[in-house]
Formats: sequence, C-alpha cells, structure tokens
Amino acid sequence: MTELAHSPIFTYASMIILFTLCPPFVILLWYTLAHQDGSVTQTYGFLLENGVQGLIDLWPRPTAIAWRIIFCYAAFEATLQLLLPGKRVEGPISPTGNRPVYKANGMAAYFVTLATYIGLWWFGIFNPAVVYDHLGEIFSALVFGSLVFCVLLYVKGHVAPSSSDSGSCGNLLIDFYWGMELYPRIGKNFDIKVFTNCRFGMMSWAVLAVTYCIKQYETNGKVSDSMLVNTILMLVYITKFFWWEAGYWNTMDIAHDRAGFYICWGCMVWVPCVYTSPGMYLVNHPVELGTQLAISILVAGILCIYINYDCDRQRQEFRRTNGKCSVWGKAPSKIVATYTTTAGETKTSLLLTSGWWGMARHFHYVPEILGSFFWSVPALFSNFLPYFYVLHLTIMLVDRAMRDDDRCRSKYGKYWKLYCEKVRYRIIPGIY
Ligand code: NDP
Repeated sequence: MTELAHSPIFTYASMIILFTLCPPFVILLWYTLAHQDGSVTQTYGFLLENGVQGLIDLWPRPTAIAWRIIFCYAAFEATLQLLLPGKRVEGPISPTGNRPVYKANGMAAYFVTLATYIGLWWFGIFNPAVVYDHLGEIFSALVFGSLVFCVLLYVKGHVAPSSSDSGSCGNLLIDFYWGMELYPRIGKNFDIKVFTNCRFGMMSWAVLAVTYCIKQYETNGKVSDSMLVNTILMLVYITKFFWWEAGYWNTMDIAHDRAGFYICWGCMVWVPCVYTSPGMYLVNHPVELGTQLAISILVAGILCIYINYDCDRQRQEFRRTNGKCSVWGKAPSKIVATYTTTAGETKTSLLLTSGWWGMARHFHYVPEILGSFFWSVPALFSNFLPYFYVLHLTIMLVDRAMRDDDRCRSKYGKYWKLYCEKVRYRIIPGIY
C-alpha cells in the first residue's frame, strides 16, 4: 500500500474539503457563471441575504432530462471504449508486478464523439444548447451520481478486486477516499479508470467546450472571437490528450493513484464543471478581442500546449528506448536508478537529467499552467472567476509535484537525492 503513504493531515484536510465544500462549490460556480454574470460579489451578496436557504433554493434538482443526457453520454462512451478497434498497449509494471494491458482507441473515440455530437446538431436531431440549458441539473445529478459510483467502486474493491494491486489500509474512510484498486476492471477488458478519467471526464470537457460555442451561436447568431480562441485552445489541448492517451496511462493518475473518491469524483464532476468554466462564462459574455489579439493569444496558447506535450513525449521516448534516443540533438544524460518492488524484486529505472527534465524536476507543469491561462484570458479582466481554473491548477500541480517528489524519494532513495542535486529546482528553473 505504498500509494497510501499520503500524510494523514493532508488526507483528512483534503477529504473534508472534497466531501463538504466541493459539491456546493460546483453548483455555486455554475450559478455564478451562468446566472450572476460571473460576479463572486453578487453571489456572495445573494447568499448573505438568503443564507443556507438561498443555497438550497438555487441548487438545481437533478431532473429526468439531466439523468437521460448523462446516461446516454456515459453509455455511448462506454460502448466506444469497448468496441472501437485500437492497438494493444501495455502499461507500466505495477508495485505488485502486474502489467495492465489496454486498447488504445482514445483518438478514435474522441473523433467519433465530436463528429456524432456536431452531426446531431447539424442535422437537427439534438440541439447541444439543451445541455447548456440544463447544465445546473446535470452538475447536480453528477454530484450525487458520482458519489454512488464511488461507493460501488469501494464495495467492488472489497468483494471482487480485479488484480492483486488492491487492498485496504484498515480505515474505511481512507479506503473510500484514496481507493482500493489500482486497476479496477469490469470483466477483462473494460478498464474503469480509463472510463472515468479519459472517456467520461476528459471527453466531457471537449463536448462541453463545443456545447458552449453552439449555445452562443444559437443565442447571438454568431460566435465571438474570444469564444473561438477559448474553444480552439481547449480542443487542441484535449486532442493532444487523446493523441497521447496511452502515455497518460503511464502517469501518476493511472499508474500510482488508486480508483477512489479523490480521483474518480474529481474526473466525473470537477472536470466537466471547473475545467470548462472559462467557456461557460463566455457563453453570456461574448467579448470581441480583435483579430490581432485573438491570434496572439491563440499562438501563445498553442505554443504552451506543444511544449507541455514535448516534455511528456521526451520522458516517454527516453524510457521507451531505454535511454537510446536523442534529447535536443544530443545523447541524453541520465541516472540509472534501482528500486525494490513490494514483492521484493530489484528493478531498474532511468531518470532523464537533460532536456526539459534537466531544467526542473516538474518543468512540464509550467506550460500546462500557462496554456490554461491563455484559454482563460479571452474573458479579459472584468471578473476573477474565469481564472479560477488557472488558480486551481496551479495549487493542484504544486501539490502534485511535492507528492511525486515524496513518492520518488521513497522509491529511488539515494538515486533520487542524486537527481535532486543535479536538477535542483522543483518546477520553475532558478526560482522554485
Ligand atoms: P508524470 O507521470 O508524467 O511524471 C512523473 C513520473 O515520471 C514520476 O512519478 C516518475 O515515475 C517519472 N519520472 C520523474 N522524473 C523523471 C525523470 N527525470 N526521468 C524519467 N522519468 C521520471 O507526471 P504527471 O502525471 O503529473 O503529468 C503528466 C501530464 O499530465 C503532464 O503533461 C501534466 O502537465 C498533465 N497533468 C494535467 C493535469 C490537469 O488537471 N490538467 C493534472 C495532472 C497532470 P516512475 O515511478 O516511473 O519513475
């Protein structure tokens, strides 16, 4: 249970925040962006005047149409995940020595999803504006539905774990929160974390980005350049994600974090609401940037997304070729690190110490954060709320960099110390 070595203070603090504050926050974020012009002060004033009853009154009840939309979407994505063809891909070896096998059909699922969604609108079969009109009810249904889903995951972890990469730490709450299973599956082929994180969570980001664009078009008869820049940048980012989805299966979310409330609820509720929030704001605030500014933001955003992609690519190419690749035109410099698995076997890993990974140990988070700034900045500066995602991402990635450093330190011991001596900065070269 090495992944459960999170500090108890961090665990309980984040648990309290996630259980009690995040559900109302999701609803208030939607309410403020969609009904209070994105003004935190206005929502605050409303809550001050109406108290808890005000929150209860504005909280949309999950309606039949909201459940129908969620169910159709989830069933469609699950079907694509199961049926679309894809290359067989092996994930990294787990702490107990298992190697998960996946079908890499994310890119196909992404294109089929967007083509179907836009096609339904184009041919007048389903208007995505309906999704925006019922967004509050959908988020409300997701808040409760995902909680039930996580309870089922917890029960499954106890009664029918899919592999030996599972187990209890002896504390019910922590098991529920951080998860029981690393690779839960239904049958042999349906990977639950691929579904929650990629095909439900990340895909909903793309679907909602398109929804906001269409809603603005349906309302105003045109799409503002700010909305176009926001949507294009988000879609470039999500396209990159699905292009590289098999690489994502090697990252902390999949290879180290277990399927519990923290990650699954986050992907199924937080991603559709918080990650899409700059676009949600722009629906009713069609800022016109002008061609020059719009293109400058677009180019800067694409550059950041490309650098973030290149950092991930560099690390994976380096690991895939066992260090026999070129990094920025030269042979890579590296540390050969050994570690012991929970089964007591000694294994070797390579740590790259040149290229992006020689600048800082988590430099890839810098372009990730800047990219999100560039798809938020088309909202300009009348309100803070369109930048909430940037703030949230910054806090999350700083915490993630610390958690990853801790995990790698306990995994690699003296070799990680050596890496930290060679590459001194955690995220921003010369600063942090
Ligand atoms: P990664 O999994 O890509 O990298 C961390 C892991 O890489 C470590 O745990 C370690 O794993 C290995 N590693 C560390 N240093 C080195 C090195 N020098 N050479 C080789 N391998 C090394 O990190 P993330 O999962 O955090 O990020 C993946 C991508 O996802 C990034 O682009 C990030 O920006 C993005 N992301 C986006 C988020 C969002 O919400 N928008 C949230 C989180 C990430 P090992 O045990 O194999 O050695």
